[in-house]
Amino acid sequence: MGCHDVRPLLAARVEELSPLEARIRAEHVATCPRCAAEAAAYGRVVQALAAMAALEAEPIAGTLERALAAVDRRRALMTDPRLAMVAAGSAGALVATVVVARALRQRRRAPGRPSPAPSLVGLAAPALIRAK
Ligand SMILES: [Zn+2]
Repeated sequence: MGCHDVRPLLAARVEELSPLEARIRAEHVATCPRCAAEAAAYGRVVQALAAMAALEAEPIAGTLERALAAVDRRRALMTDPRLAMVAAGSAGALVATVVVARALRQRRRAPGRPSPAPSLVGLAAPALIRAK
C-alpha cells in the first residue's frame, strides 16, 4: 500500500475505519513520516473540535469562507509538500472548528433535545479534562 492508497484513511477516526482499514493505516503510518505527519494533523483537528464544545462565541459571518480562501492561497504559494501539509492541517482545524461551533450552537438552541450529541461528548471529554 502506498501513500496514495492510504491517504483517504488518514482523516478518519479509528472508530470510523474497519479493522482492516485501521491496520493498513497503522502499518503505513509507522513507516511513512509524511503520512504520519498528515495523520497527526487530522488528530489535532479532532482535538480542536473537542475544545469547541465548551465555547460560546459564535464565529462571524464569512469566517468559513475566509479560512478556505487562506488554505487555497497557502497551497498555491508553497512548494514544499511538508509545509503545505502543516498549513492545510492548521487551516483545516480552523474550518472544522467553525463548522462544529455552529452545529453545537444550533443543537443547544433546539428545544427538547439533549446537547451535545453523544459522539461529541466523547470527543470533548479529553479536552475538557486537560483544560482543568
Ligand atoms: Zn505515506
